[in-house]
Amino acid sequence: MDFSLSPEQLDIRERARRFVREECDPIEADWPLSDYDADPALVARLREKFTEYGFRGVAIPTDAGGRGAGTLAKCILFEELRSSWVTYGQTVVWSAFLDPHPVLYQSPEWMREKYLYPILEGREQYHICISEPDAGSDVAAITTRAERVGDHYVLNGVKRWSPDPFHPFTKPEYLLVYAVTSPGMGYKGISTFLVDFPSEGITVGEIKQTAAPGTFLGRVCDLHFNNVKIPAKNILGEENSGFRYVQDQLNRNRTVIGAGCVGGAQKALKIATARAKERVTFGAPLAERQHIQFMLADMVTEIEIGRLLTYKAGWKIDQGEDARVEAAMAKSYCVKMASSVYDRAMQIVGGIGMLEESRLPTTYYQHRIAHLAEGSIEMMKQTIAKSLLTGWG
Ligand SMILES: Cc1cc2nc3c(=O)[nH]c(=O)nc-3n(C[C@H](O)[C@H](O)[C@H](O)COP(=O)(O)OP(=O)(O)OC[C@H]3O[C@@H](n4cnc5c(N)ncnc54)[C@H](O)[C@@H]3O)c2cc1C
Repeated sequence: MDFSLSPEQLDIRERARRFVREECDPIEADWPLSDYDADPALVARLREKFTEYGFRGVAIPTDAGGRGAGTLAKCILFEELRSSWVTYGQTVVWSAFLDPHPVLYQSPEWMREKYLYPILEGREQYHICISEPDAGSDVAAITTRAERVGDHYVLNGVKRWSPDPFHPFTKPEYLLVYAVTSPGMGYKGISTFLVDFPSEGITVGEIKQTAAPGTFLGRVCDLHFNNVKIPAKNILGEENSGFRYVQDQLNRNRTVIGAGCVGGAQKALKIATARAKERVTFGAPLAERQHIQFMLADMVTEIEIGRLLTYKAGWKIDQGEDARVEAAMAKSYCVKMASSVYDRAMQIVGGIGMLEESRLPTTYYQHRIAHLAEGSIEMMKQTIAKSLLTGWG
C-alpha cells in the first residue's frame, strides 16, 4: 500500500498553503466574525486570486473545462483552506466547493456556456434547491411540481434553505431545482431543472439567520415558485432522471465535506495545543497534565482517522469505483469527529473559548450544520448499513 501523494496533489497542497500564507494570513486578524460583514471588494479580490491559483474545477474532468486533478486533490485543497479564518467559512471559495451537476459535463455546448463554464471560472454561482418545508431527508417526498405545457415547464412549489439570494456573496445566477414531473413515482418521477435567477414568478421569503454567521450558510430563506415558466430545453438530462446521476455528485461532495471537517478539527487542535502550552494552573502548564495530554492525543488520532477515511474515499472515486459507502463513512465520521474535537478544544481553552472573539463557538456551529447538509449522519448510516446487509466489504 502506497500512502504517498502524486506530484499534482502535492502541488495543490503546496499552493493551497501559499494561498493561505500570502493572501489570507495578512488579513486574518481583521476578518469579521461573520463572513457577511467582510468587505465585498476584498472578497471579490480573494475570489479572483483563488481562480488565479488554479483552484477552480479541481475535480472536474478536463474535457468539461476543469483541471481533472481528482477528488483526493480537492480534499487536500479544502482541508488546507480551513487553516485560515478568512477561508474557514468557505464564503470566499463557495462556488468551488460544490461542483456543478455532472450531467452538465456532457451537456450541449450552449448549456455548458451558460451554466457550467461561468461557475468553473468563478464568475457566477448557483443554488441547489432540493429541500422543502415537508421534505428534507426524505427527498422522494418533495412536492414542487414541474408540468410540461408545450415547449415549457411550469414550476409551482416552495424550496427551503436557500442561501441569501440578495447578498452579493451568495447571489445565484441560476437555481438547480428538483421537481416532480411524474407524480406518484417517488425518486423515479423527479427531474432537475436549470432555472435562471431572478425569474418571473419566483419570490423570496423572510431571510433567517442560522447559528453559523461565519459561513455562506449564515442567512437562509424559502424560495416560492408560482407558475414559473422555464424553457423545456432547461431540463438536465432526461425527464424523470433527476436522481440517476446524483449519487456520483453526492459521493464527491460528502467526501469533500469530510475533508473540510478534518481541516477544521486540525485548526481547533492547533489552538488547544498552543493554549495548553502557555496556560499555567497550579504552578505548571496545562500541557504537562496527563489528562490534557491524553485529550490532545485522542484528538490528533481521530483527526488522522478522518483524514485517512476522506483520502480513501477520494482515491476510490478517482479510480472510477463505487465509493458510496466510503463517502458516507468519511462524511458521518468526520462531521462528528470535528464537533467532538471542537468541544474538547473549547474545554482545554477554558472560559475564553466561550468568547465570540475566540471564534470557537461560531465554528463549532459551522460543523454542527454539516451534520445535516448533503445528507444527515443518519442517512449516511442508512447507506452504510444497507450496503453492509447486502454484502458490502
Ligand atoms: C444551514 C443549512 C443549509 C442548507 N442548505 C441547503 C441547500 O442549499 N439546498 C437544499 O436543498 N437543502 C439545504 N439544507 C437542507 C438539508 O439538506 C436538510 O436539513 C437535511 O436534508 C435534513 O432534512 P430536515 O432538516 O428536513 O430534517 P428531517 O428530514 O426532518 O430529519 C430530522 C432528523 O431525523 C433524522 N431522520 C430522518 N429520517 C430518518 C429515518 N428514516 N431514520 C432515522 N433518522 C431519520 C434525520 O437524520 C435528522 O437528524 C440546508 C440545511 C441547513 C441547516
